Amino acid sequence: MNLLASFAAMSQTVGARLDYVQGGGGNTSVKLGDGLMAIKASGFRLNQVTENDCFAVVETGTLKDVTAACGYKPLRPSVEASFHALLGTFVIHTHPVYANLAMCSASGTDRLPAAMDGLPYIVAPYINPGVELSMAIKERLRPDTRVVFLVNHGLVVTADDAQGAMALHDEVNERLASAYGVSRADFDCFAREAAKMLYPDQQVYLDLTQAQREIMAAVMFIHFTLMKNGGTAQAMGAEALSYISGWEGEAYRKSILR
Ligand SMILES: [Zn+2]
Repeated sequence: MNLLASFAAMSQTVGARLDYVQGGGGNTSVKLGDGLMAIKASGFRLNQVTENDCFAVVETGTLKDVTAACGYKPLRPSVEASFHALLGTFVIHTHPVYANLAMCSASGTDRLPAAMDGLPYIVAPYINPGVELSMAIKERLRPDTRVVFLVNHGLVVTADDAQGAMALHDEVNERLASAYGVSRADFDCFAREAAKMLYPDQQVYLDLTQAQREIMAAVMFIHFTLMKNGGTAQAMGAEALSYISGWEGEAYRKSILR
């Protein structure tokens, strides 16, 4: 299978899981050689990526967008392209409910050494998405780093091939799920239940889009699981919230997918 076919298959497999990505969240990339990288286009769902659509092409050194010059439909690259450029051939970045149990809870990183025993990883503190976050990841990267945890954000894994990246991504999430006593079946059941309309006020006041419903299910699952584990959720700071709400990149992303 060629690189773009593997990239598309990987994106569709990971993107089919609501416990891994919700709405237009998460992104994948592949280094194509000659200093080029294909990365999911901003605003699209991960499972929409195909061999010739819903991704952009950038130069890894400069992050210059060369999608149209490479003959593909011009789409805006993910705002997270800069850290993908630092990593291996295949990269998966998600906002999975299992890794985010640790990433979105007070002292959640304390769970990592036992859960991740034998699997090298690094942790980046919460930093506004973009170049600053990439710099923080770059400072922490070691030659053996294949797993990056992002506080109040998600997970990044990298491998030489798509199968290896997906296997590593599954393993990290399974380890974290088990550390918190939950499984994929628990999330699937929770998401199904959370989609039910229970009484008229919910219909009137909580008329959510599909993307909003998915994110709501993920957030509530994280809250309930943390509560069951005696943990406390760790909210984003006021400065981080105001950066995201004023950022054109996020407004663009939201305009693509409802
Ligand atoms: Zn992200």
